[in-house]
Amino acid sequence: MSITHIPGFPRIGKQRELKKAVEAYWNGDLAESELKEIGKILRARHWQQQADAGLDFVTVGDFSWYDQVLDMSATLGVVPPRFAWPGKSPTEAEPQVDLNTYFRMARGRAPEGKPAHACEMTKWFDTNYHYIVPEFYPEQAFSLCSTKLFDEIAEAQQLGYTVKPVILGPLSYLWLGKVKEGDFDKLNLLDKLLPCYQQILAKLHQQGIEWLQIDEPILVLDLPAAWQAAFQRAYATLQDSTLPNTLLTTYFDDLGNNLSLACQLPVSGLHIDTTRGYTNIATLIEILPGEKILSLGLIDGRNIWKTDLNALIEFLTPIKEKLHDRLWLSTSCSLLHVPVDLEQENKLDPEIKSWLAFATQKLAEIQLLNSALNKGTKKEEKSLQLINDAIESRKNSQRTYSNYVRERVAGINESFVARKLPFPERIRLQHQQVELPLFPTTTIGSFPQTSKVRHIRQEYKQGIISEEVYRQKLKQEIAFAMQKQEALGLDVLVHGEAERNDMVEYFGEQLSGFAFTEHGWVQSYGSRCVKPPIIYGDVARQKPMTLDWISYAQSLTDKPVKGMLTGPVTILNWSFVRNDLPLENICLQIALALRDEVIDLETAGTKIIQIDEAALREGLPLKKQQWAHYLKWAVKSFKVAASGVKDSTQIHTHMCYSEFNDIIQAVAAMDADVITIETSRSDMKLLDAFKDFSYPNDIGPGVYDIHSPNVPTVDEIVNLMHHAKERIPLERLWINPDCGLKTRGWEEVEAALKNMVKAAKLLREQV
Ligand code: GLN
Ligand code: ZN
Repeated sequence: MSITHIPGFPRIGKQRELKKAVEAYWNGDLAESELKEIGKILRARHWQQQADAGLDFVTVGDFSWYDQVLDMSATLGVVPPRFAWPGKSPTEAEPQVDLNTYFRMARGRAPEGKPAHACEMTKWFDTNYHYIVPEFYPEQAFSLCSTKLFDEIAEAQQLGYTVKPVILGPLSYLWLGKVKEGDFDKLNLLDKLLPCYQQILAKLHQQGIEWLQIDEPILVLDLPAAWQAAFQRAYATLQDSTLPNTLLTTYFDDLGNNLSLACQLPVSGLHIDTTRGYTNIATLIEILPGEKILSLGLIDGRNIWKTDLNALIEFLTPIKEKLHDRLWLSTSCSLLHVPVDLEQENKLDPEIKSWLAFATQKLAEIQLLNSALNKGTKKEEKSLQLINDAIESRKNSQRTYSNYVRERVAGINESFVARKLPFPERIRLQHQQVELPLFPTTTIGSFPQTSKVRHIRQEYKQGIISEEVYRQKLKQEIAFAMQKQEALGLDVLVHGEAERNDMVEYFGEQLSGFAFTEHGWVQSYGSRCVKPPIIYGDVARQKPMTLDWISYAQSLTDKPVKGMLTGPVTILNWSFVRNDLPLENICLQIALALRDEVIDLETAGTKIIQIDEAALREGLPLKKQQWAHYLKWAVKSFKVAASGVKDSTQIHTHMCYSEFNDIIQAVAAMDADVITIETSRSDMKLLDAFKDFSYPNDIGPGVYDIHSPNVPTVDEIVNLMHHAKERIPLERLWINPDCGLKTRGWEEVEAALKNMVKAAKLLREQV
């Protein structure tokens, strides 16, 4: 049999136990010891699952209270000075980053300790997972400041498991961090960092660890020469025969230019993601030195389709003959990015369910793959036949195909992808239609999803209240949000999205070609999870999706109400997508459905319509070479959705965490009249993108960090806007939070928006 393992398992729990526990702890409803106990139960459960599935190792170090990169920062003592933990400094012997310091770094506050500006958060490669960005300062030191990893290893060993710990490697750790003060090359920190890694390795050795998974996902990026050279240096330093074997682990793409580098590094094994990019694995096998292990990530850790194991066995048989025991079998990446267990989905259409595999099922797929490849008895044959049936049923299903949709996409021409007039003329018409002050204030769309709103939805889903009552109650929530906004004096109002559980799910539920799970949660950041819909077939709109709500909200006020839609690229990027059609084709299908909605909204009198493209950036391929192609179809899809309206109708878009520098041209090419973006956590530094490229349309740089419970002061907001004014002419500036407010409470939201409106008034007076 081959050695089997996984790069990581979801930590959130199949009932989102971790989310609930962590939030209860933050609210003071759970003691630290109780929280820790729940973590322990979850870890034990997930290890048991891996052992039950016959994996040779259980993976330890994938559990986290918030984020695995933040865990690494804690381990390495990388705590920004503003969080200085009480009475201890990193130079003292054996200081520990306690849980409260940890949570303050993650979210600005914790049950104990002073609130402080939370660390920046950004997307983990091209996924919808967000990590906490390590911050580096001029005098940056590194020292082991957390025993979490070692404690968890001991915990797993006590339960009798063979442990393969996972840590983020030194180069990827540095790459993902940011220099916060001073002007130095973060790569220069490597020499100070490596002794810490040596200490970690030595400790693992003491704990009897034979194999360490060391993640270096940046090896799939286009790396500068200095970083490539640093890999050589770092791994030569870490190499020591008395330490654990290291499995250098890469995922999310092929190794590209770094292929020979990765093969030659002095490590004991290499893990690659064969689900992306690898067209010629033979080359890799040829150049991989003969003593090294090759761990193949064959089962897709980013998608939920059953694996065609029969095809894999065909693919693997010659490889196995070459590599024998040097071949390990695995999933492509950590299963963090897929839901935990398909078995709990009782409402899912049985046919569609038969096409799927979640994390738990993927463990079984590895096991079956292993035994079929190495034993191939009758028993395996039978199981493989079942898989084959599922794969065939999906291939041949009528439910995945619509002639009408295919023809419509084929009919998209130039007239679908452009507004009639250029922006300067459009904006004049728009100002005639809707009169707004300088620095218009608005929000990004959602208002707090209170427990009351969630309760209403629960009651409806459980059949306790009728659809009519449900809608009535939601209207009351909308009316409440409208009243609040009027009282606050905001200029462009929103209905608040009370009817939406999630900005993608809401649309998916109304479009054909989508399927939904009940428990298919995937961690997005910290305690926050999303439940991505599954696009299994051609996408079409059945009927208007948002019209009633927006019209109702507009009927309550004389101020303009923004229509609110999720854009095609975001719907695509935040769904599990069928793998039998090119992405761009699926995206255009969605764009056409949204285009119909946009036109319906305009016809009903909506003068401002926002099409969120929160996830545009994260869909960027990891290799620059492929960017142009992606951006071309992404921009085109947005324009197909947005361009069906009159020039006097104002199109807004919103993007989260958009680091624009490298895609600013594409963002401008989308030609939205107004764009709102994330900038507050980075102190408007993201606006540096506008130094060399003057963004032509209106822009609202976020001034209120909605990912933190802290309320920004009037001064802070005014200051941020002063920075913004240095880059963007003030006639084109809007004032808004940096994302939707659904995760916040009303009290903080009201206080923050009040300050925002006050700041706008002050700024207007200063003009
Ligand atoms: N309109 C959405 C909201 O406010 C946008 C959310 C997002 O960008 N993630 O919730
Ligand atoms: Zn956002």
